[in-house]
Amino acid sequence: MGRKSAEVDAGGIWFPTGRRVTKPLYNRQLVCASLYRDGASSRVALHQATGIPLSRLSGLCGELIREGLVREGVVAPAEGNGRGRPQTLLEIDLRSLAVASVRHDQRSIEAAVGDLAGDVRWRRRWDNSFRDPDDRLRRLTAAARQAVAAAGAAGLRVAAVGAADPGTVDVAAGRSVRAVALPGWNNVPVVEGLARATGLRVFIDREDGWQALGEVTFGAGRGVRNAVFATLLEGIGGGIVESGRLLAGRDGSAGELGHTRVSDDGPLCGCGGRGCLEAHLAPSRLTALWRGESPGAPPRDVDRRFTEMIVAARGGDPKARSVLAEAADRLARGLGNVVSLLNPERIILGGRFVEAGEAILDPLRDRLPSYALPELVRGVDVRLAELGESSTALGMASYVREKLFAVPSAADRPTGDDEERPARHGGTPQ
Ligand SMILES: [Zn+2]
Repeated sequence: MGRKSAEVDAGGIWFPTGRRVTKPLYNRQLVCASLYRDGASSRVALHQATGIPLSRLSGLCGELIREGLVREGVVAPAEGNGRGRPQTLLEIDLRSLAVASVRHDQRSIEAAVGDLAGDVRWRRRWDNSFRDPDDRLRRLTAAARQAVAAAGAAGLRVAAVGAADPGTVDVAAGRSVRAVALPGWNNVPVVEGLARATGLRVFIDREDGWQALGEVTFGAGRGVRNAVFATLLEGIGGGIVESGRLLAGRDGSAGELGHTRVSDDGPLCGCGGRGCLEAHLAPSRLTALWRGESPGAPPRDVDRRFTEMIVAARGGDPKARSVLAEAADRLARGLGNVVSLLNPERIILGGRFVEAGEAILDPLRDRLPSYALPELVRGVDVRLAELGESSTALGMASYVREKLFAVPSAADRPTGDDEERPARHGGTPQ
C-alpha cells in the first residue's frame, strides 16, 4: 500500500533543499513564490519580479500549467491607453491543490480535504473510542488514506497530509507528546506512521494551533497579522499567530492558554495543577454551578446543559449570568496577560464560546481592561470564530501553502547555470 500511494506525489511538488537544487528547480520555486505573493501576473511582470529571462519563463510557465500548479486565462486589459492586445495573466491554481487532514479526540476520528484556496471539499467522521495508541494510529492512517483517495477522486492534487493532535506535540520530531484526555497517547510517531501510509509529506501540530491559523487566514482574523485564538471545548486550547505565523515555542506547544494559572486555590485541573484557566471554565463545572450542584460532580449531559445555561443567560436568568460573568472574569485574567505580553490586534474565541456568543463576550469585554494596560486593550478587537469545524483543515491549508510557495532562500541558490545545459555539453551539477 505504501509504495502504491507514494506515487501520489510523483510530480515532486515540493522544492528540494541543499545539494539537490538545480537552477531550473530554483527558478520554478521563484516563479511560484512570486505568483503566490503578488497574485495573478503577466509573464512580463513575472520577468520583472524574478529576473528570469522571458525566453526561459515561457517554458517554465508552460511546465507549471501542464502540471496543474498554475493556471492561465485571467485576462486583463492592456496597460496604457487601452490599445494593444489584452494580457493573459498567470496565477497559482490554489483550488486544484489540497491538504488531506486527520484530527481525533476521545470519541472520534475525522478526516477532511481542504483546498489551498480555503474551502473544505470533503469530510468524514468515525465514532471511535480511544483504546490504545497502536489502534488509534492505525485508524488515523486509514482515515488519512481515505482523505487522499477522496481528494484524488475530486481531481485535487494532494500537497501534504496534516495531523491535528489533541495534546502537546514535538513538531520537529513529528511526534505527539501527551494528550491528557487519551491515556497512553504518549510520544507517538504520528508523522512517520502517516508518511509511510500515504507517501506524502506530513505535518503535525496541536489542533488548537491549526484552528488559530485557519481562523486568522480564512475566518475571523482575515486581514490581521497578530491574533490570539482561544477555544473552549472540554478544556481550553489556544494558539498565537504572530506576523501571520503560528508561534511555536521550543517544541510547538506555545499557546497552551488553558493551563495558564488564573487563581492560587482554584479547582484542580486534569494536568495535575490547580487554578488553571480550563479548570475554572470546564463546561461540566460551569453547568454544575448553575444548577447548584457540587462543581466537582461527575459530568452529565454537559452539551445539553451548557446550551440550556446559555439560553437561560440570554433570557436574563441571574444565576446563569453570574456563572458566566465569573467565567468571563477568569478568562479576562488569562487573556489580559496574553494581551500585555503579545500586544495582539485581535482575540478570536472558538468552540463553545461561539455558542455562548454575547453571553460571554459582553462580560469579557467588560473585564478585560481590568487585567491589561488600557492602551493595549483598546486596540484589541474580540470576536467569535467563524469557521467552526473547518478551521482545523483550513489551518493546515494555510500552513502548507505558505511553505509550498515560500521564496527560496539565498542559501539554496545554485551557483552558475550548468544544470540547464544539455548533458553532452559537459554540464554537471556539483
Ligand atoms: Zn492545567
